[in-house]
Amino acid sequence: MSKKGKLLVISGPSGAGKSSVVFKAIEGRDDICFSTSVTTRNPRPGEVDGREYFFVKLERFLEMIKNNELLEHAEYVSNRYGTPRAYVQQRLDEGKNVVLDIEIQGARQVRRMMPEAVLIFIAPPSLEELERRLRGRATDTEEAIQGRLKRARQEYQEADFYDYLIVNDDLEKAAAQFNAIIEAEHCRFADWSELLKKA
Ligand code: ADP
Ligand code: 5GP
Repeated sequence: MSKKGKLLVISGPSGAGKSSVVFKAIEGRDDICFSTSVTTRNPRPGEVDGREYFFVKLERFLEMIKNNELLEHAEYVSNRYGTPRAYVQQRLDEGKNVVLDIEIQGARQVRRMMPEAVLIFIAPPSLEELERRLRGRATDTEEAIQGRLKRARQEYQEADFYDYLIVNDDLEKAAAQFNAIIEAEHCRFADWSELLKKA
């Protein structure tokens, strides 16, 4: 594998199975780590500061933008979310692959600033199945479920700048596809061309 880590951006509708796929894929791997985002939204029951997110006040969030501490940031359903730049840079320099679970506006910013990032969209096999999963997860109200389905349709129309699409029908298969993408990305010719030149 090449020495520098890959920045892996995953997006997709809430309930598509992004967390499930990535957690399954990274079982037993220590070369992949997650970036913890900063958000202005309130913690949900069970969420721990520094684990799911760093929960901050809007004032602190704006200060981080001003100090250029965020790699990307976006507003989503009236809350602000951002990726701390320093952590990501440090891990990539150490040779780790870093996963960002971010929405589509943030992914677009990453594409612009770091064209070498790998953008993966994870979709459920159908919107009917998405609805079933959201209901099964039992974390959303009826209104929130309808809102998320509407949002999913919008995202589908804008997602054509992603590099890969994983349809999460079967969890094992989707996780294997995620790992296969990482393997393939580490075989990029440009990452290894020095090796041939030195020979
Ligand atoms: P996301 O991180 O995209 O919001 P989750 O990983 O929380 O989604 O998954 C949403 C729900 O769908 C969870 O209840 C999860 O167990 C379920 N799920 C995930 N992948 C599959 C799959 N391939 N088949 C059936 N159910 C799945
Ligand atoms: P939730 O509030 O449900 O945890 O997340 C809402 C949305 O914000 C999800 O689509 C999630 O991927 C996205 N998100 C989480 N962290 C970040 C971030 O740092 N930047 C951006 N742009 N989106 C984020």
